[in-house]
Amino acid sequence: MKQEKQYTLEDALQLDKQDSLASFRNEFYIRDGHYYMDGNSLGLLSKRAEKSLLISLDDWKEHGIDGWMDGQEPWYYYSEKLGEMTAPLVGAKKDEVIVTGSITTNLHQLLATFYQPSGSRSKILADALTFPSDIYAIQSQLELKGFSPEEHLIKVESHDGNTLKEEDIVNAMTDDVALILLPSVLYRSGQLLDIKYLTKEAHKRNIVIGFDLAHSIGALPHQLHEDDVDFAVWCNYKYLNSGPGGVGGLYVNNRHFGRKPGLAGWFGSRKDKQFDMEHTLTPAESAGAFQIGTPHILSSAPLLGSLELFEEAGIENLRNKSLSLTTFMMNLINQELSEHGFTICNPLEDQRRGGHVSLKHEEAARICKALKVNHVTPDFRSPNVIRLAPVALYSSYNDVFNTIRILKEIMDKEEYKQFKNTRNVIA
Ligand SMILES: *Cc1c(COP(=O)(O)O)cnc(C)c1O
Repeated sequence: MKQEKQYTLEDALQLDKQDSLASFRNEFYIRDGHYYMDGNSLGLLSKRAEKSLLISLDDWKEHGIDGWMDGQEPWYYYSEKLGEMTAPLVGAKKDEVIVTGSITTNLHQLLATFYQPSGSRSKILADALTFPSDIYAIQSQLELKGFSPEEHLIKVESHDGNTLKEEDIVNAMTDDVALILLPSVLYRSGQLLDIKYLTKEAHKRNIVIGFDLAHSIGALPHQLHEDDVDFAVWCNYKYLNSGPGGVGGLYVNNRHFGRKPGLAGWFGSRKDKQFDMEHTLTPAESAGAFQIGTPHILSSAPLLGSLELFEEAGIENLRNKSLSLTTFMMNLINQELSEHGFTICNPLEDQRRGGHVSLKHEEAARICKALKVNHVTPDFRSPNVIRLAPVALYSSYNDVFNTIRILKEIMDKEEYKQFKNTRNVIA
């Protein structure tokens, strides 16, 4: 029988030495002796993000109201500038992206805009594994149009509780479906759906399709324009490291420019018309039309510095490193933890998974508590999922090695049994 390779600390150190992106780690504030594996929930602070935030604070200090036009980074054009900087990460034209709102508010906006039931074509198609907030938004938008979510929201079921089959999704694209909303990467299992294929199938059937990129933006490249996706939403505080509650983003295909925003507000105006103060809105001829109110500058500003790092590193390079980090992690899991009752529930193929490893274990809640006490930050999703996200910009192979080493020690010594197997308020 072939001897399986045994992975060691030396392998990790060697991989770090060969890593052309390794220097980006120095751009981040990383606590010594801590292993942060939760960058898919809240990315870490970079010095660049801190700097761009301080610039906006300085602009306020220096200019007061005139910071809107005269600051170092004029606030009036900030959301558009950030949209242009984000566009390469999602494969969009510069004016197809705007930084505004949050995932949930942007979903409300784009559902209000694109969900146009007509005749028997009145249902929304989503999936049974999606994030609750996305479902809540769909339910309330259906109710606002006078429909009952029980009848009008179709959820594609999963066969294994972890993943979806594209063919099931396509089979659910029936004549009564008006709009489809799907995740790019599923938040628990990390499954990456085939955006191009699903979009093509939806359009063959004249159905509008949008994606939630929360767990893929900043982790892997997208081709939203080329794939002809109608709309997309995301947050910037996960892989894009813009800080807690950082302002989100949206994409609208330029074929839809000129469409009336479902939820109108003055920041959706053409910028040269906005201060005419007319009671008739002249929407911007760009994704900017889907903004509502005054941009949250101080919650947008860290994104500017952060996006510079993505531009310098290159999203293709980041994806390659991310796949290599998660492969290394899965190899270590198979090597070290096979006796301990874990199941890897993310797809194993590179083209079918996002940026995190998803582990199932009956004792997941208290294993996570033990990891935290031992300076590893994982992420627990009720009832039994541990997500571990080594992030290409700032995680090292050494981090991955130590994370699994510590997890093995906790399991060997049954250290997790000191804790209750229940989730904390935030998990
Ligand atoms: C993180 C996340 C959200 C959170 O939405 P916010 O409006 O930013 O709070 C929504 N949907 C998905 C899929 C997520 O991963």
